[in-house]
Amino acid sequence: MNDDSNNCIFCKIAKKELQTQIVFENEEFIAFNDIKPVSPVHTLVIPKKHYKNLLEVNDVPMLGKLFLTACDVAKKQGLDEGFRTVINTGDNGGQTVHHLHLHILGGRFHKWPPG
Ligand code: 5GP
Ligand code: ZN
Repeated sequence: MNDDSNNCIFCKIAKKELQTQIVFENEEFIAFNDIKPVSPVHTLVIPKKHYKNLLEVNDVPMLGKLFLTACDVAKKQGLDEGFRTVINTGDNGGQTVHHLHLHILGGRFHKWPPG
């Protein structure tokens, strides 16, 4: 953990200090519904360990498991017709919460390219 984790809302969610609707949890990851959903299904998957964003990650197995977890969570939510996964990185990527998270968006068609 680095110092940024002290005031991080997603660390607080991972530690159950903030309440949220949890969809999935194991030792390493937690998935919960986005507070401001942009799709009928909008779930965030995060590692419990604090990483600021993708650029801070050098743990390749963790990244692999993050995506496999996202697939499990999407299946669990019945997104058989497909879904979108998004990781925003930094200011130009539109990142607003500085704890690595993967968005799962489903339940409607998602056009490409995004805005
Ligand atoms: P970003 O723009 O960083 O990729 O996405 C951050 C996401 O976190 C946004 O979609 C935002 O709605 C969501 N979010 C921010 N604060 C909270 C919170 O306290 N609880 C939950 N469940 N989601 C949050
Ligand atoms: Zn954090």
